[in-house]
Amino acid sequence: MAKRVAVIGAGAAGLCAVRHLSASPEIFSVVCYELGPTVGGTWNYTDRTGKDENGLPIQSSMYKNLRTNLPKEVMAFPDFPFNTCLPSYIVHQDVLEYLKSYADQYNLYKYIKLNTMVTEVHSRQSTGSKELWDVSYCPSADRSQVQTQEFDAVMVCNGHYSLPLYPTIPGMEEFRGQVVHSHDYRKPDEFRGQTVVCLGAAASGQDIAIDVSHQAKMVYLSHNKSPLQTCLPENVQQKPGIAKLGTHSVTFLNGEEAELDVLLLCTGYHYHFHFLSSDCQVQISDERISPLYKHLVHIDHPTMAFVGIPKTICPFPQFDVQVRFFVSSLCGQFTLPSREEMISDTERDFQRRLSEGLPPRYAHVLGPWQWGYNDELAELAHIQLIPRVVQKLYDYVHETRVRDIARYKDCNYEITSEEDFKAV
Ligand code: FAD
Repeated sequence: MAKRVAVIGAGAAGLCAVRHLSASPEIFSVVCYELGPTVGGTWNYTDRTGKDENGLPIQSSMYKNLRTNLPKEVMAFPDFPFNTCLPSYIVHQDVLEYLKSYADQYNLYKYIKLNTMVTEVHSRQSTGSKELWDVSYCPSADRSQVQTQEFDAVMVCNGHYSLPLYPTIPGMEEFRGQVVHSHDYRKPDEFRGQTVVCLGAAASGQDIAIDVSHQAKMVYLSHNKSPLQTCLPENVQQKPGIAKLGTHSVTFLNGEEAELDVLLLCTGYHYHFHFLSSDCQVQISDERISPLYKHLVHIDHPTMAFVGIPKTICPFPQFDVQVRFFVSSLCGQFTLPSREEMISDTERDFQRRLSEGLPPRYAHVLGPWQWGYNDELAELAHIQLIPRVVQKLYDYVHETRVRDIARYKDCNYEITSEEDFKAV
């Protein structure tokens, strides 16, 4: 009998999971649950913030003018290039179109239940002591109609850019200006003529500071990293982190004070898996999900995987490797290490990060380690590596971004071989 696999979410990660599972219909039968009305996850831009028409939290964190911060040549899944007529840095609508074409190309829609929310996942032992999963789901528009289906494996692909992380800032209760998390940032027009602090200078913080500067009077990009060595628009200034807020002012950690209308929090997101019951034994502590082998496989329930957990990575190619790794383990093409080996591998990796000075909450931030991680997964599962050119171009565009954040997206690239690219 085919192994029954549930995929939760039909964003890029979930689509990739369905694509590889459905390629072997004699081995797997797949059902994908997506709470929204369409595939593509966070790339479904909406003007709306807060709740959707069904009273569920808005999933998308896209803003109106977003262009990708990676060129399409590295963003693509290895088996599905973007349309070559597009420029390298594309608008969010093009990414959504791409994901819908991917679903069409691999005939994925027939496996996806749209407008269907997973409400609960339970682990259960069958009489033969095999682990089974009960997945409960309901129409997103009517949460009283719950049904449950049994599966042999579960792939959790629910994304991690939808539950905002709000920092604690002294004086926040007294502040009378507007406080907006980047999850709810949509258009710069709403901030015309205002003084804005963008708190946090990771990719989104930098990009939003530039976007909002087109309409705002002044933008302070406040962060605790070393100052960015890049050209910024005239009305964007870097400042250290925030010491405190007043009713209409901000004091930075260097003691400088400024008038303030809007505090834009580009402070990241929490991981969340509200639908996993306690018998799934998943803990999240300080943004570290445990116990996960290779940020992916549940060590105590190895028929459950979490695709897309690592941060600061090149997402779609990594999803593809993670999915092929897990699918190979499910169909027995390779055997996962013993529970003890998986635990010690995970702990070794975590301790190495701490010894390099990273705080525990960076447990899933890969950055420069992503390429070694991808290769390791591919080698362990005897699957194809991501072509070298992806890393080469990713590293190259990172340098161009560091030099000139306001204009690096004007460049275009072409992949010329598995090893090389050229600027065009
Ligand atoms: P999502 O796209 O979030 O999909 C998760 C899906 O799960 C959603 O459709 C959601 O509705 C569904 N879901 C959640 N809970 C349930 C449930 N209980 N039941 C059923 N369905 C559920 N990446 C790049 O490569 N290039 C970029 O330039 C880039 N820019 C970005 C800019 C922003 C502002 C953000 C937020 C992200 C950006 N990313 C970028 C990263 C992006 O998140 C990934 O590329 C990728 O799209 C994530 O896919 P995902 O499937 O993991 O998550």
